[in-house]
Amino acid sequence: MTNRPEAAQPGTPVILGIPFDANSSWLRGAAGAPPIIRVALNSISSNLWTETGVDLSAAGAFCDAGDLKFTFDEPFTAIERKVHELLEKGLRPVCLGGDHSITLPILRAFGKHVPGLTILHFDAHPDLYDELEGNRLSHACPFARIMEEGAAKRLIQIGIRTMTGHQREQAKKFGVEVIEMRQLPVLDRMKIDGPIYISFDMDALDPAFVPGTSHREPGGMSTREAIAHLQAISGKIAGADIVEYNPAQDNTQITATVAAKMLKEILGKMILN
Ligand code: MN
Ligand code: MN
Repeated sequence: MTNRPEAAQPGTPVILGIPFDANSSWLRGAAGAPPIIRVALNSISSNLWTETGVDLSAAGAFCDAGDLKFTFDEPFTAIERKVHELLEKGLRPVCLGGDHSITLPILRAFGKHVPGLTILHFDAHPDLYDELEGNRLSHACPFARIMEEGAAKRLIQIGIRTMTGHQREQAKKFGVEVIEMRQLPVLDRMKIDGPIYISFDMDALDPAFVPGTSHREPGGMSTREAIAHLQAISGKIAGADIVEYNPAQDNTQITATVAAKMLKEILGKMILN
């Protein structure tokens, strides 16, 4: 059903699990997410057809590079190298976190391969802090580093509902296009010329839908609203990540099911667009 990346055609979406949560500022647990999302994706309680009519069970629809194993390398070096390797093969990585700090090394690799990238960032939080508790690699900081390093051309954030004065200044400094939660729906704003990178923090959704996150922030998107915005994306999608699912906070496994649903619809859009 899912192929090995070695046999995949160029352009095929490839899943890569990144079990890393050491830059989480509040709760650990997100490192355990990737295998649980895979189980939910393949559960026979549903099927592998997307709402948009793509059969993900078809031969070669997507492939799976497994979970990254951390050995001797510094973790961010290991993440960047692995994503680079998949991009070199012409594949389109979809990384499963892990905490949101992993998006920095992922985007370092993308920045070198895909010029003119627009990041579409779903999150309750802008993650634009210059530093948090002395950690400049915190999961509260990745988009400050990405914009400083010029790894993407444009950053559009959607679902934001925790803006601080400092982060508002950072957004202004980096020219970030912030769409706050209270402005939704904004389906027209999803008409973006590619290439697009989707960074999907599960806490963009309301904790009523996804209790299994480390930072439950009320007043978020419904699952339906998030899917509607994903399905409204028009440009070509170069890659994606789904981060901050925390199985330790997910007593009923409902959040795993929602993460798998987001993965399914993102893979479907990647194949269609
Ligand atoms: Mn985040
Ligand atoms: Mn968040």
